[in-house]
Amino acid sequence: MTETIPMSPSGGANGVPSHGARKTALDSRDGDPAAGTGLLVLAPMLLEANAVRRGLTRPTSRVRRAGVGQSRASKVAIASQPDALGTPVVVMGTAAGLDDDLSPGDLVVATEVTDGRESIPLPGAVLLAAELRRAGLRARAGQVVTVSHLVKSAERPRLAAAGAIAADMESLALVRAAAGRPVAVIRAVSDAGFGLGIVTGGLAALKSLRQAAPIAEKWAAACADRSVLLAGPRSFCAGVERAIEIVERALELRGAPVYVRKQIVHNKRVVSDLEQRGAVFVDELDEVPAGATVVFSAHGVSPAVRTDASDRGLSVIDATCPLVSKVHAEARRFAREGYTLALIGHAGHEEVEGTLGEAPGSTVLVQTAEDVAALSVPDKSKVAYLMQTTLAVDEATDVATALREKFPQMRAPGSDDICYATTNRQAAVRAIAAEADLVLVAGSKNSSNSVRLVERSERAGTEAHLIDGAEDIELAWLDGVSTVGLTAGASAPPAVVSEIIDALSGLGTVTVTEKITTTESVQFGLPREVRR
Ligand code: SF4
Repeated sequence: MTETIPMSPSGGANGVPSHGARKTALDSRDGDPAAGTGLLVLAPMLLEANAVRRGLTRPTSRVRRAGVGQSRASKVAIASQPDALGTPVVVMGTAAGLDDDLSPGDLVVATEVTDGRESIPLPGAVLLAAELRRAGLRARAGQVVTVSHLVKSAERPRLAAAGAIAADMESLALVRAAAGRPVAVIRAVSDAGFGLGIVTGGLAALKSLRQAAPIAEKWAAACADRSVLLAGPRSFCAGVERAIEIVERALELRGAPVYVRKQIVHNKRVVSDLEQRGAVFVDELDEVPAGATVVFSAHGVSPAVRTDASDRGLSVIDATCPLVSKVHAEARRFAREGYTLALIGHAGHEEVEGTLGEAPGSTVLVQTAEDVAALSVPDKSKVAYLMQTTLAVDEATDVATALREKFPQMRAPGSDDICYATTNRQAAVRAIAAEADLVLVAGSKNSSNSVRLVERSERAGTEAHLIDGAEDIELAWLDGVSTVGLTAGASAPPAVVSEIIDALSGLGTVTVTEKITTTESVQFGLPREVRR
């Protein structure tokens, strides 16, 4: 175990002062629900408050009119509840859109509220905006600037240039009033200016506020102080780090575009990042112009692809993970020695296709014990098996056991094919799943090792979900969850893990503990084409 890091929701984390004596509690017939339950919505105008009320569905949800403008908003006080999480607060109202892409009725969830001098970050915004989008609403997360007057057209470019996508007159003061509680801001763009522009875009904005109200309730239900149990090791393995570095160096040394056959590693974030820097991902080599540089992905390619690249005069840089290359070398050796090869793996996976291509005439893919039962070979005494590097250790062992029972003289690979990174991450997720109510696995859907981590957790009896980033977290998953286990597949960047923790900290204080089951020191050298 390593250190424990507490992270607080907005207010507590940012030194926002609690409301002072000069402020007065709002006179409200709705009252403030019990600490830690329900939802308190602060809406500046009566029209906004009524629109939200019409959309609320839970008896513990309340709406207060906060009044229009900073002066009234700064007088808002919410009953102090020092020993409790406090009722989550959502500021809901209309706003002026500052971004050309925003239309009347679009929702802006504040990642930060500012007046240009003071800023309060709201780290849970990404979760709420994504939930609104899942509900079919147009919603974006971004900075909201609070100003002292209705925004004039001439002011909009200046406010937008400072980073804001919407402007209002109350959010900063209301968020300050909710210091120490989970707090969010949802503003619906009226576009014609908040307040007086309510008739035109305002109608669309009020409709969106009503539709957003049940999502605000969902968000409030997900608010809680939580523990996050981080698996160690997690995230990038040595093969993925090497593959990404190869593309980066190829771009640096040869300039864009650098073509990459298939995804360099199975992760959306990594691929999109490299695309922005000039990498062009293609499915097949016929999409690469003759003579261009092409990188083979970490999953490896069959000899037929290498021949094709050579025939087309392409300049190849091979980012195949050395541990995948080891499996290819074993396939060639066993085939040379006259063995029938049983390759344990998943049909269609790029790594499996590459390995099958090394000895297509003597390799058979087996995915299950049933496949083993149906397997017939020319010589039962000359069978060997190999494995895909990213399989679930226990499931692959079951298939290997079935093979050994059928072919007692079967040869095994010289060393384990399931790689160290896969094995270590599966052991680490099993350790956190034992203590967590929910496990989140950062990784893409086509990442085999990430999918295996989800399955590993589920086999341990703990609900698990695969997410590309914080925006994929569904708020309902968190309802009633006090310990979240968090890991990342070998192709998922470490930054995603930090972003997920940050997003969770917008729902309540997060205490992070790392559970390290082993440490890794594996490193692979780079191919000569990209060595400096
Ligand atoms: S998961 Fe294993 S085989 Fe795949 S790239 Fe990483 S180290 Fe190599």
